Amino acid sequence: MTNEISNKCCCRNTIASTCKIEENNLCPICKTTGAKVKNITVKHLVLETLTELVGDTDYYLCMDEECDIVYYNTESNIKFNKQQVKVPIWFKKDANPKYACYCSKVTEEQVMNAVVKDGAKNMKDVLKLTGAMKNPQCQKNNPLGKCCHQIIQDAIDKGLSMK
Ligand SMILES: [Zn+2]
Repeated sequence: MTNEISNKCCCRNTIASTCKIEENNLCPICKTTGAKVKNITVKHLVLETLTELVGDTDYYLCMDEECDIVYYNTESNIKFNKQQVKVPIWFKKDANPKYACYCSKVTEEQVMNAVVKDGAKNMKDVLKLTGAMKNPQCQKNNPLGKCCHQIIQDAIDKGLSMK
């Protein structure tokens, strides 16, 4: 960081943006709290024609399933909607397919089928049956830039509860 002093703030975080989360993380459209997403993830997932627009800042992912907005940055006022990203966002309405693992393109349905139809009981079984998390590049492929482990676990739980 080039300007350490101005980046420091009251709560002793060295990066000011982590302090301002409270005011800056609300989606400009639906006002829902977003989840922070790294620049590299956003750059990789918006349509190629829009990559330059992304700039060098981090973004938030709108977590509201009804809202059309995917990534937004309230400071630069740049936002990208569902049509402007390459992959369906799994928790958004009408997401099709609903990926649980974006790296290996394994859907929530495949995970649930592995549990309900093929008798998978846990993460290990599911990974073996579906091939999920085989080639993990979550920072680039998952819309949150995080490991899809939790999404797969949720799908397993869903499948188990259907049994
Ligand atoms: Zn929103």
